[in-house]
Amino acid sequence: MDSKILNFFAFNSASYEVKKDKWNDVNLEIYYQKGHEFNLDRMFKGIKASLDYSSKNFSPYQHKQVRIIEFPRTGGSFAQSFPNTIPFSEEVGFIADVDDSDEGGVDYPFAITVHELAHQWFAHQVIGADVLGATMMSESMSEYVSLKVLEKEYGKGKMRKFLKKALDGYLMQRTLERKRENALMYNDGQGYIHYQKGSMVLYAMSDYLGEENFNNAIKKYVNKVKFQDAPYTTSIDMVNHIKEVTPDSLQYLIKDMFETITLYRNRVVDVKSTELDNGKYQVDIDFEVSKYRNDEKGKRYYGTQVGDTLSYKTEKMKNPVLSVKLEDYIDIGIFGEEEVDGKKKETELYLQKHKITKIDNKVTIIVDKKPVEVGVDPYNKLIDTQSEDNRRKL
Ligand SMILES: [Zn+2]
Repeated sequence: MDSKILNFFAFNSASYEVKKDKWNDVNLEIYYQKGHEFNLDRMFKGIKASLDYSSKNFSPYQHKQVRIIEFPRTGGSFAQSFPNTIPFSEEVGFIADVDDSDEGGVDYPFAITVHELAHQWFAHQVIGADVLGATMMSESMSEYVSLKVLEKEYGKGKMRKFLKKALDGYLMQRTLERKRENALMYNDGQGYIHYQKGSMVLYAMSDYLGEENFNNAIKKYVNKVKFQDAPYTTSIDMVNHIKEVTPDSLQYLIKDMFETITLYRNRVVDVKSTELDNGKYQVDIDFEVSKYRNDEKGKRYYGTQVGDTLSYKTEKMKNPVLSVKLEDYIDIGIFGEEEVDGKKKETELYLQKHKITKIDNKVTIIVDKKPVEVGVDPYNKLIDTQSEDNRRKL
């Protein structure tokens, strides 16, 4: 190596074919087994997209080359980022049969490549101290970069697919926790927290604060701590940088997303659409917003002092809905449909954050075109225990 690196490296040896490419002055090389050419272009695209995103938003790439090196699946089904070198299992990239159709799966050779490249910043430039929460700066940040690159590639409308996958993964895996679940910034290194929850939290923060504003906070943090010696940085420092660019009205997000385990239970209760004389549509939506917190053993609570808890009950309901006090901003969306090449495609007619202070809510929104579906947090940006009822078809 021609510059200082983390003491963390790998040896790979085999009879390889090499495919080469360039990104600016950086040499890109993929070492692969003959016959495994299927996804090399997807991987090069991932390398370039990731280098682009992180070098534009955070700091320059620190090496003269990027190498991806194939290893057989008998060695595992993962990829891992060492300084400028990424051993990559054939199973998670090289021999994947990617379904590019609309309903198809995620292009994971691309997505994983983006994630691994992002580690050149988040693990190799920003090196966290070996304490609770450190993986938020490595795994959560790399997964955040992966989501943002996917968003650029597929459009915001497609993000629900990825976010819902992360959400469902988090919700399922946390039920298997045997020790304790900590808040994200104090996580114990569990994958479901630093990958699934972490990526959702950082994606949501970037959405609330604005991508540029959020990334500038991370940029300032990266440039403060990159390549530092002991004492190494901790998640407290990173969260402080985010706090600094978070307006007063959104400071509750820091508490909900980083400092505590907070879960929403948002749902559409009823929706009605009326065509108006001027050809527009009036949409009336009834929806509920509530959230609770979990302690590290999974015990539910709705606040820590008197006046913290909201309650809502109708005559029909056996038990009231409870919630931590709300001063939250939540996406309300209305969607239409159009036909492109004989296929029905969802279009966004309305998407705005509404300030919510109670559990039961009604809004009336006028849209230009015929609505077919509405949603509260319709893209599943928030940690919500039941993602299916966030949307309702008309
Ligand atoms: Zn990783």
